[in-house]
Amino acid sequence: MSYTEEIYERVVAQNPGEPEFHQAVKEVLDSLKLVIDANEEKYREASLLERLVEPERVISFKVPWVDDSGKIQVNKGYRVQFNSAIGPYKGGLRFHPSVNQGILKFLGFEQIFKNSLTGLPIGGGKGGSNFDPKGKSDREVMAFCQSFMTELSKYIGADQDVPAGDIGVGGREIGYLYGQYKRMRGLYEGVLTGKGLTWGGSLVRTQATGYGLVYILDAMLKEHDLELAGKTVLVSGSGNVAIYATEKAQQLGAKVVAMSDSNGYVYDPEGIKLDLVKEIKEVRRGRIKEYADMVPGAVYTEGKGIWNIKCDIALPCATQNELNLDDAKILKANGCFAVAEGANMPSTREATDFFLEEGILFLPGKASNAGGVGTSALEMCQNSMRLSWTFEEVDEKLQRMMNDIYIKISDAAKRYGVEGNYVTGANIAGFEKVANAMLAQGTAL
Ligand code: NDP
Repeated sequence: MSYTEEIYERVVAQNPGEPEFHQAVKEVLDSLKLVIDANEEKYREASLLERLVEPERVISFKVPWVDDSGKIQVNKGYRVQFNSAIGPYKGGLRFHPSVNQGILKFLGFEQIFKNSLTGLPIGGGKGGSNFDPKGKSDREVMAFCQSFMTELSKYIGADQDVPAGDIGVGGREIGYLYGQYKRMRGLYEGVLTGKGLTWGGSLVRTQATGYGLVYILDAMLKEHDLELAGKTVLVSGSGNVAIYATEKAQQLGAKVVAMSDSNGYVYDPEGIKLDLVKEIKEVRRGRIKEYADMVPGAVYTEGKGIWNIKCDIALPCATQNELNLDDAKILKANGCFAVAEGANMPSTREATDFFLEEGILFLPGKASNAGGVGTSALEMCQNSMRLSWTFEEVDEKLQRMMNDIYIKISDAAKRYGVEGNYVTGANIAGFEKVANAMLAQGTAL
């Protein structure tokens, strides 16, 4: 049995009931096989893979809070501090009923390689809660965030672990969390990213993941003598990533014809009116269905199915495993030639394999959505220096970062004889830097 297969079996045996974590480890190990085989003796000797797949720390805690009716509610809170070989743990907090330890371990594991790809000194982590902010009053969300941070504040710090937002954690939640951190620790420091602009936030952070996704998509298309202008695009989700991916794609001349949420999707053949989506989602926290009620010619369909719409390019920006093999086949049959992941692991393993086999240009989330965490690291940098860069300065750094990531993953794929396989390229390029740092630091981690 190969070293990577051995480790995968060990992960499955030792982490029961965590299918998403198994899936993420398998995907990474399979595509690292070329590098591992070439260096097997060195890595086995150092038990490198055994150490890589084990989080440095998993913190699990109780989050009691009082709802508007005066009843005490209890949620589960977590922080997975996965790997600090190249910097303090960095990764978002997710508030969603589906959150459990296995999902956060999958996200934390992926984050190690993503953060490495940004070229900035940040390790991998992830956290969150099974709390559902949907339908809660602002006061309830604040009560929950304050209780969550009261416990989390014992384990994080600007040079230790710097969480950010993710699904269900936007500017409002970061504000409540940050306020409570200061109150608990008495420190005005860059312990969270995604902060408001008047209290330590960075310009472009809100837009960064979506913009970054389109910047790297553009870089890939250009290398294949293609361009975004005039192309028809599907964007799943209508949250932070989806909205700003749509904005940048539209700015570069593409036509985005559909967006979705967890209830269904809207199709607007004339092109999505993004101001309206922002009003529905960012201001009123409403449902995407309302779009079709307001725009003549737009059609709302309940349930999944966004990938059945004809397009040139698909940008899955909602959640994990939202695009399966059947969806991938339909996309291909309808002429889709490029897929770039805004969400984390939105394509199932079978869908990803299909894209690669069929020659569809495919950018995996760990590379293509790295602009968010990369810009978070720029926010940390500004906090440390006690200054703020302009929008143009940050945007220019983000563009450069995404171009560099494209070059790194493309070169790594070429080096190992799998040109155009950006999944393998991203895993190899992300892994090499972390592996070298772990080897250099001995048996400490
Ligand atoms: P948001 O909470 O802002 O938006 C998530 C969107 O996806 C919403 O439209 C939501 O619909 C939809 N969605 C969530 N869960 C499901 C589900 N189970 N089925 C269908 N639709 C669903 O999150 P973000 O935009 O921040 O994150 C989206 C993805 O991008 C996640 O995978 C996240 O990990 C990843 N990501 C985010 C980064 C960031 O900077 N924000 C950085 C890198 C990756 P509804 O409103 O109905 O819940």
